[in-house]
Amino acid sequence: MTNHTTKAPVSSPSAIFESHVFNTRAQELYLPKKIIHHLQAVQSGRAHFDIHYADEIAKALHNWASKHGATHYTHWFQPLTGGTGEKHDAFFTKYTPNGLIEELKGKDLLSAEPDASSLPSGGLRTTHQARGYTTWDTLTPPFLKQTPSGLTLCIPSLFYSWKSEALDFKIPLLRSEQKLEKTALRLLSFCNQKASSVYSTLGAEQEYFLIDKDIFLHRPDLILCGRTIFGAKPAKGQELEDHYLAPIPSHIIDFIRDFEEQALRLGIPLKTRHNEVAPSQYEAAPLFEKASIASDHNLMLMDLMRTTADAHNLACLLHEKPFAPFNGSGKHNNWSLATDSGQNLLTPDLNSLPFLTLLTAIISGIHEYAPILRASIASAGNDHRLGGAEAPPTILSIFLGIPLETAITDIAQGKTPAQILKRPIELNLRHLNPEPVDSADRNRTSFFAFTGNKFEFRAVGSSANCAWPITVINAIVADRLTTILDELESAIKDHKTLTDEQRLHRALPILQKHLLPSLAILFSGNGYSKEWTDEANARDLPNIAKSFHTFEHLHSKKAQRLFDDILSVHELESRVEIFYERYAKQMNIETNLAIELFHTLILPAVQKDLHTKATTIQKLAQAGVHSQHQTNILIHISQLLDQAIQSCIEIETYQKQTQGLGWQAKGRVFCDLLAPAMIPFRQTIDELETLTDAALWPLPKYRELLF
Ligand code: ADP
Ligand code: MG
Repeated sequence: MTNHTTKAPVSSPSAIFESHVFNTRAQELYLPKKIIHHLQAVQSGRAHFDIHYADEIAKALHNWASKHGATHYTHWFQPLTGGTGEKHDAFFTKYTPNGLIEELKGKDLLSAEPDASSLPSGGLRTTHQARGYTTWDTLTPPFLKQTPSGLTLCIPSLFYSWKSEALDFKIPLLRSEQKLEKTALRLLSFCNQKASSVYSTLGAEQEYFLIDKDIFLHRPDLILCGRTIFGAKPAKGQELEDHYLAPIPSHIIDFIRDFEEQALRLGIPLKTRHNEVAPSQYEAAPLFEKASIASDHNLMLMDLMRTTADAHNLACLLHEKPFAPFNGSGKHNNWSLATDSGQNLLTPDLNSLPFLTLLTAIISGIHEYAPILRASIASAGNDHRLGGAEAPPTILSIFLGIPLETAITDIAQGKTPAQILKRPIELNLRHLNPEPVDSADRNRTSFFAFTGNKFEFRAVGSSANCAWPITVINAIVADRLTTILDELESAIKDHKTLTDEQRLHRALPILQKHLLPSLAILFSGNGYSKEWTDEANARDLPNIAKSFHTFEHLHSKKAQRLFDDILSVHELESRVEIFYERYAKQMNIETNLAIELFHTLILPAVQKDLHTKATTIQKLAQAGVHSQHQTNILIHISQLLDQAIQSCIEIETYQKQTQGLGWQAKGRVFCDLLAPAMIPFRQTIDELETLTDAALWPLPKYRELLF
């Protein structure tokens, strides 16, 4: 008999969407109309939040949250660890002879004080200067976070120091949106177009691995570092291309359904699910949203995926490269600009000045600030992924697709571009008449690729907080757009009286001026090819292979200028310090673990194996059997083990060199000396794995983890 277990019916998405969010529908049950209108005005940028309403809102939140069973609340924020921060407080303020007074006050909503010196501050806070504050980010509604033990009211918050300096990833993102909005509205007004707000949009495709929890618990490297430090390539890899888009296994679907439902309750519009390229790799993608909301949602999603996996006896891996021989995981950030009426400003139209100006600002800005964009996705984890034939190379280039690239090149050279037409499809089937498709093919090999009406930033790593790369893109576009607009406004003073065609005609020479020197960054060919590396070199495009070497580009006057109004010099410097610190610490943890795994698990296992083999050979010899082949194997394994010991000594020596150095200097040793020495160390150990008695090998193998 087949065992068909009946699952609980799936709730319809619209029935549960935002049921755990204090959205307008929930507000209507608990707040007067006047305050709801005020909150809407704040969220659409038409008003400052009036703190006189805080008590009433807090009371409504308390009622709403306790009705759902929540007993605690927390400010939910994004410290510079890359994760999220929460400190739960119960909904009571004092006890009296009559019992506890249960309430939430306006001041609890507006201010909390976590210890800022125990979270990364890059020198902005120290042990004796620990004050840091969080406050509700009134652009984002509070939500209820579900854990197995109940619900917690989460108040999305900003984190800053006693000196008003940003200590999180959210404040700069919001500042970058403000700056970009200001200049984009200027552009629309210059073109006589109406909009009351412009914002960046983000759709983040999240890749991840799922593995059996029981096996995961036998890999200390997965537990402590999120990736396997050793592991031999299994007999079968991903070469049959049989995992990508294959049917999703049923126990995985159960897990996906579970986190999707919770995500929908939190207002995360998850839409797409599918198997990815590597075995046991998957992807989840939402509908795009306003970038600041979407990046919060992505953090909430990662958290949900991890905790839900646990309940399904799975481990969800969000590291960029958990398994070296297989594709790693990215988080493709799809980015565009939209107006409040939902108009996408990157919808291609060669007659539209807003589109052409924006595209010019993107091309010329990224050309100018390429190393800083590269730095926005830098991390020790992403270094293992970028540049393989699975993720974009570290060369900064922009893919527009041949038709749009040709048109832009024509404009840059003062020629009239040909219109871009959709491409007809002819399948030679009588019953079908397929829709014409995009004029350009898709390019997975580009750092920053135009995909029809948005850019796809594929280089972002799977564990990253999107807020930082999006802040940098927004900053680059805002900076360059401001420069171009300054020139347009001063050259075309009568722009209000012109027709669209006349305005475009007069503006083109200014766009040309910015495009021409930036054409080198356009590349629509194969970014994985060797020829492109040479060609990019000839074009003088930056190609910073290792993340560590990108951070110095944030240490420049140019970066300070770029982040004007987004990060003060002090805030920027502190971030650079944190990036160095984080890089060096992660590398150090991996080094500690590699040495420990080798000495305490691998070396003893191989020695046991050698002992058994040697004893067998000895016994055979005593019986008069002399097997040269068996002796050769024994010698080979013994030589490999010696080689591994030698590599380990080398690594320990480099690690000792880092003692007493500052974070940047430590990072340099890890990046330039230690990481290259890890490669042969791992290779030797992986070879030993393939030769040692499997019953003795102390770590689960890739075939057990992934298939
Ligand atoms: P792919 O084929 O690239 O894997 P997916 O459907 O998985 O595509 O993901 C594409 C993502 O791009 C989705 O999250 C989608 O909402 C997002 N997206 C689409 N249009 C825009 C836009 N204008 N701005 C930002 N993101 C967008
Ligand atoms: Mg996708």
